[in-house]
Amino acid sequence: MAGEPQDDCLFCKIVAKEVPATIVRETETTLAFRDINPQAPTHVLVIPKAHHENAAALAAEAPQAAADVLAETKAVADEEGLDSYRLVFNTGSGAGQTVWHAHAHVLGGRGLQWPPG
Ligand code: 5GP
Repeated sequence: MAGEPQDDCLFCKIVAKEVPATIVRETETTLAFRDINPQAPTHVLVIPKAHHENAAALAAEAPQAAADVLAETKAVADEEGLDSYRLVFNTGSGAGQTVWHAHAHVLGGRGLQWPPG
């Protein structure tokens, strides 16, 4: 069911502290931790603690949690000292989504090209 922890979800396991991660921020509804394979000097993932498949599902099923995630991306950027940064929500396999728990990538600390690949 939407919002419920999933046994086979890596990010639910990180929320439950069953899988270790370098956590940079935590709120009642969100968790922010460093990406294991960073693509920029700062590469932090911000997730809702509740399980939603991706950004589209999160927006439809839990708009307040979506707002919480967005607010936390700014808090991460502030803490990391980023004045320019990129937010990415890969949504669907064709867009490169590989973990099926909604997450925002916060990428910064280097120049970023546009358009992305
Ligand atoms: P996606 O491709 O779904 O947009 O992003 C998934 C992200 O999760 C990738 O950037 C990947 O490096 C990251 N990731 C995958 N497994 C782990 C893990 O065990 N720990 C952490 N911290 N990040 C992970």
